[in-house]
Amino acid sequence: MKFLSTRDKSLSVDSSYAILNGISKEGGLFVPESIPKLTKDEFEKLKVLSYKDRAKYILKKYLTDFSDEDMEYCANGAYIGSFDDDNPAPISQLGKNTNVLELWHGPTCAFKDLALQILPFLLTTSSKMQNNKKEIVILVATSGDTGKAALEGFKNVPGTKIIVFYPEDGVSPMQKLQMNSQEGENVSVYAVKGNFDDAQSGVKKIFTDKAVQELLDKNGMQFSSANSINFGRLAPQIVYYISVYLDLLNKGDDLSSGFNVVVPTGNFGNILAAYYAKEMGVPINKLICASNSNNILTDFINTGVYDKNRSFYTTVSPSMDILISSNLERMLYHLSGDDKYIANLQNQLFAAGKYEVNDEIKTKMQEIFFADYCSEEETFSAIHDTFSEYGYLSDTHTAVAIGVYKKYLEKTGDNRPVVIASTASPYKFSKSVLKALGISDTEDEFKAVEELSTYTNTQVPKPIAKLYNAKTRFKEVYEKEDLLKAVEKALNI
Ligand SMILES: *Cc1c(COP(=O)(O)O)cnc(C)c1O
Repeated sequence: MKFLSTRDKSLSVDSSYAILNGISKEGGLFVPESIPKLTKDEFEKLKVLSYKDRAKYILKKYLTDFSDEDMEYCANGAYIGSFDDDNPAPISQLGKNTNVLELWHGPTCAFKDLALQILPFLLTTSSKMQNNKKEIVILVATSGDTGKAALEGFKNVPGTKIIVFYPEDGVSPMQKLQMNSQEGENVSVYAVKGNFDDAQSGVKKIFTDKAVQELLDKNGMQFSSANSINFGRLAPQIVYYISVYLDLLNKGDDLSSGFNVVVPTGNFGNILAAYYAKEMGVPINKLICASNSNNILTDFINTGVYDKNRSFYTTVSPSMDILISSNLERMLYHLSGDDKYIANLQNQLFAAGKYEVNDEIKTKMQEIFFADYCSEEETFSAIHDTFSEYGYLSDTHTAVAIGVYKKYLEKTGDNRPVVIASTASPYKFSKSVLKALGISDTEDEFKAVEELSTYTNTQVPKPIAKLYNAKTRFKEVYEKEDLLKAVEKALNI
């Protein structure tokens, strides 16, 4: 399997190259030249395997330059002992046909762990395969959860350093504390004055700056990325959409007319993984793209116009507060197969903050996706109602998905089985969840955790309980123009 750039398909590289480099030289994203299909027999075979063995098999479909031993090493390293459940992606049910896919049983209590526990293994293995002798520097811009999950994945991994930037006022207090208290010799964490898009643009600029690359090279280092622009982040996310299908079959569910999947979406990485799973043969009917008030994707899917010239809102689901969904570029490439067209759209986005896709793509997109959004109020109601109806506690991001699914049901009446991706533990956003339940409006994050546990009679996840005694290690704040200074400082160059 070769990987091509979305903006220049004449570039053709191995998966280890794509993973090591993160992004293509001319700014495009790496995509597989074709999406592999699984046969009936293969699905049957996968049905009886554990999550990590399913992961090995599915990842090998894309990362064909990895040996079986390499993949064994990566999957075992990631999925044995790092999750609080034997299945890293267990299902909870809200009534018969409504399945919640809980993707937050890892070390940072968010779905990013499913990919970021394995990425360091994939990346260091790729580095060896590419004969790279340089130290790998991971630059991360985070809207909250990626940062911590990447820090946990890469901490003390030999041959790597990781630098994380987060928007100073754009993450929850719990997320901030999780990151600022991070342990490890090779980690640095900085706050940025600005929003997530500022942090992401700043990081992209450094990442693609020739002079900076030379400076790193001189010092025996090279950049790579742990953001979902790296295909090594996406591939492991495909696994759980295949795995949940197999689990539903094993459970005896009737999937003869397929099932729907709802994904609370920000950078379009998670839902893109579901799209890959669908293309690989998982009988997914509609991919339901759920947004918060930053509903640029809702508008795009419904009108074909992507326009980031709009207000940016800081919401209670901060990991979805994004106006530039990087992975959309990959989906548009797969729908058009036309690299020149994609390069042109991205140029328009860069120059005018706006583009419109042609009717053919718009039609295809609307066949595959349904898109809607939840206001803050609707998000709070979804948390409240789900708890009172089912005794099920959902975080603010999952609640957006639940709320949008309700709208989908009302609009279409399509009640076939559904999988709702649950992307974070409610304890990561305790204050907002408490408020939604109408219990209290406490300012203290840890008091909120305690109250939530007492009131709902659920247990505080260990990684959150551990933060009670955490010491803040990182306190520096940088202007968005000055991120390079932070990088130089962190790397001592
Ligand atoms: C990252 C994140 C999202 C958004 O996922 P994308 O892949 O960026 O679309 C949603 N919910 C939570 C909790 C997240 O951490």
